[in-house]
Amino acid sequence: MTSFDVIVIGAGPAGSAAARKACDLGLSVALIDKAAFPRDKLCGGGVTRRAARELRDVFGLLPGPEALSTHEVRLVAGRDVLGEQRGLPAFAMIMRRRFDAMLYEAAVGAGAVAFCPARIATLDLQAPSVTLQDGRVLRAKALIGADGANSVVAKALHGRAYDPALIGFGMEIEFPAPAGQPPDPVVEIDFTAAVWGYGWAFPKAGGLTLGVGGRLSRNADLRAALAAYAARRGLDPAGLPCKGAFLPFGDPRPQPGRGAVMLAGDAAGLVDPVTGEGIGWALHSGQLAARAVAETIATPEKAFAAYARALAPVQAELRRARFLARLVYHPQLAPRFLRHLHRTPRLQRRFLSLVGGEMDYADIGLASIGRVIGGLIRRG
Ligand SMILES: Cc1cc2nc3c(=O)[nH]c(=O)nc-3n(C[C@H](O)[C@H](O)[C@H](O)COP(=O)(O)OP(=O)(O)OC[C@H]3O[C@@H](n4cnc5c(N)ncnc54)[C@H](O)[C@@H]3O)c2cc1C
Repeated sequence: MTSFDVIVIGAGPAGSAAARKACDLGLSVALIDKAAFPRDKLCGGGVTRRAARELRDVFGLLPGPEALSTHEVRLVAGRDVLGEQRGLPAFAMIMRRRFDAMLYEAAVGAGAVAFCPARIATLDLQAPSVTLQDGRVLRAKALIGADGANSVVAKALHGRAYDPALIGFGMEIEFPAPAGQPPDPVVEIDFTAAVWGYGWAFPKAGGLTLGVGGRLSRNADLRAALAAYAARRGLDPAGLPCKGAFLPFGDPRPQPGRGAVMLAGDAAGLVDPVTGEGIGWALHSGQLAARAVAETIATPEKAFAAYARALAPVQAELRRARFLARLVYHPQLAPRFLRHLHRTPRLQRRFLSLVGGEMDYADIGLASIGRVIGGLIRRG
């Protein structure tokens, strides 16, 4: 079969959610990925409550049998502890190799025809159609680009996937758990481990993911920043791989698509600029894109217009997040914000509700974010 209702490029969270939802809505789906699954994906693997809700809604799944559930978070600024919060709602930590394979299998199990691994030779966004490097030509009524931060679909639409001056970058090291020792279940966030970003220590069933991430243009040497963070925690990274990847939080697409073509997940820049969360938005936007295809199947050139309407609240939410990021990470305001955070356990809990995806930025409102910024400026 080479003719489908929809072609989905990329089978990460956004693509697998799109493919699964499209199958559930009765569409025929081609799912293309350059990798064979299971495959690795650099990521902290923090599954927020928002992501967990999407996982349940789209796939009817939980984060997975190997997910580690944690209820404790420590907020630090270097060696200074700003606060510790216990008894928080569960926050799941997963390894993306397993998690993404689970989603991919659920999409294929629902009927998506997989072309994984397959290399794309050419893309025709008008048709739309995809020619694979082995010569096969796949055609469809609509196309969803869910191919991550370096999206070829975004490049075909906009000339480039992102602006490197605006986008983020993250680096991580996986530390295996010492033999016979249960994992330390405390999540740590270090606000000073990176500029316009943060460091994270995320416990996993088999060890600990230590990472730093921030705006690429503000962090000349994230590798050194990660080494310094590891040293502060008494961890020796010698012999362990240190990997990096783009975090597309600074350059969201105002128009993530055209005609019958849509971008979802990282390809559309749907990453939270305060928290770095992308899995939940990838799952959500993937399913919205699939719904848009189903709604416009008789007039597929209107698919993007339907998707754009459905995505508008997500884009508004990420705009509010960008506003708050200026408070949390701005070089002049950040020290004041951290002092305020240290003194105010209630603010710590509210901040963690945002990070954990229990609360939306809309729940705070731009006006009150503006008031906090004003107050911090006045107090000095
Ligand atoms: C260091 C780091 C830490 C992070 N930590 C977290 C976290 O803790 N929690 C969180 O929610 N988010 C986190 N994120 C963000 C999260 O990883 C992404 O937002 C999420 O993976 C986006 O999903 P996606 O499906 O859009 O893209 P991806 O997961 O990147 O999937 C894209 C897929 O497209 C495929 N592909 C790419 N190019 C092509 C091509 N040309 N042809 C065919 N297939 C292609 C890839 O093989 C891949 O399978 C982190 C990111 C980084 C870099």
